[in-house]
Amino acid sequence: MRTQVAIIGGGPSGLLLSQLLHVRGIDSVVLERKTRDYVLSRIRAGVMERGLYELMKEAGCGARMEREGMPHDGTLLSYGDEMFRVNFKDLTGHPVMVYGQTEVTRDLYDAREAADGKVEFNAEDVEICDADTDSPYVTYRVGSESRRIDCDFIAGCDGFHGVSRKTIPADVLKEYERVYPFGWLGVLSETPPVNHELIYANSPRGFALCSMRNANLSRYYIQCPTTDKVENWSDEDFWAELKRRIPADQAENLVTGPSIEKSIAPLRSYVAEPMRWGRLFLCGDAAHIVPPTGAKGLNTAASDVHYLYNGLRQFYEEGDAEGIDRYSERALSRVWKVERFSWWFSGLMHRYPDQTDFDLKMQIAELEFLRSNTDAQRAMATNYVGLPY
Ligand SMILES: Cc1cc2nc3c(=O)[nH]c(=O)nc-3n(C[C@H](O)[C@H](O)[C@H](O)COP(=O)(O)OP(=O)(O)OC[C@H]3O[C@@H](n4cnc5c(N)ncnc54)[C@H](O)[C@@H]3O)c2cc1C
Repeated sequence: MRTQVAIIGGGPSGLLLSQLLHVRGIDSVVLERKTRDYVLSRIRAGVMERGLYELMKEAGCGARMEREGMPHDGTLLSYGDEMFRVNFKDLTGHPVMVYGQTEVTRDLYDAREAADGKVEFNAEDVEICDADTDSPYVTYRVGSESRRIDCDFIAGCDGFHGVSRKTIPADVLKEYERVYPFGWLGVLSETPPVNHELIYANSPRGFALCSMRNANLSRYYIQCPTTDKVENWSDEDFWAELKRRIPADQAENLVTGPSIEKSIAPLRSYVAEPMRWGRLFLCGDAAHIVPPTGAKGLNTAASDVHYLYNGLRQFYEEGDAEGIDRYSERALSRVWKVERFSWWFSGLMHRYPDQTDFDLKMQIAELEFLRSNTDAQRAMATNYVGLPY
């Protein structure tokens, strides 16, 4: 098989890139290790920046998000029983959109299918070959059949555990990492959200987040030790602990119910540089991870897609390689700013095992400063709604 762009990974980055390229008449093939149902069963992001929303529209996939997504003009932050609101709309002119990653992915799969796009599921043993030459290709296996795709470029959109980043020689790739000493235990339940906006809670018992996917689907998280096992957390224990971590008046309104998904995610900050090696480009979680505080993972994957898509478009439509040559530099410049925000917001809201009384006082002082200072709130809101591309 021959294509212009071989895309490894059928998550949101790979699908969005493929669909955007298709709109411009650029051919691609997406190779996904799992099945479509498996990809759609992963419960992940829920807060979308305007940039992602605009890209979905450009890809011809924004209609359902526009119809069913919930614009949020602000968010709530609490410490103990104190709570305050940061008004994104007033401070930046922009809201964020609450719409599940699952729905983004579903819209993109539907669009790819409608356009007769090539997505190979169950693609195993994917290998990227000759990426540092002008004739790269990808080999893989479906069942017992070995296949090969020759291409102009390869987009590595295969997430943190994919093959793309590992293809880049160790003496070229520089990795930066911080692993946090806690994880997030998340519960999805078919219950109305406790509040119509998200609540980020710093409590003496650890962080909690009250989020949602729609008017009758709530997503809640609590900070937990990395050693905790999900099977040791009953629904009752989860709800009881969540109630202890959010302000009492919110806890009173919390509607509980059976969990329909429960999982523990570790927290990590990670960046790999550069994001290009020859004709291979890393995109999304393949190149960087943020802790989920601040909802930046999927949104940062989308900004990579923006830079890569525009670079490829410039190459094919204008014969100009400037965009692809500067892809890594442009994407990383934004990635690092997002890493900083996610690291800062995580530090502000979590309890750390080695935190001293002084550190705790600093956290509360910073929260009170944020509560009372419009400039500090604007800085937070500017980052939360999404830095410009
Ligand atoms: C529990 C959790 C909660 C999160 N919450 C948020 C949030 O609230 N807000 C936010 O913005 N972000 C959040 N994120 C992060 C967000 O989900 C990711 O940043 C986003 O999924 C990145 O998209 P991606 O397409 O780059 O990678 P992925 O979604 O990981 O997709 C990569 C795809 O590549 C496939 N693949 C992997 N290896 C291979 C291979 N060798 N061959 C072929 N295919 C392969 C995988 O099966 C997968 O489908 C969360 C993540 C987790 C885990």
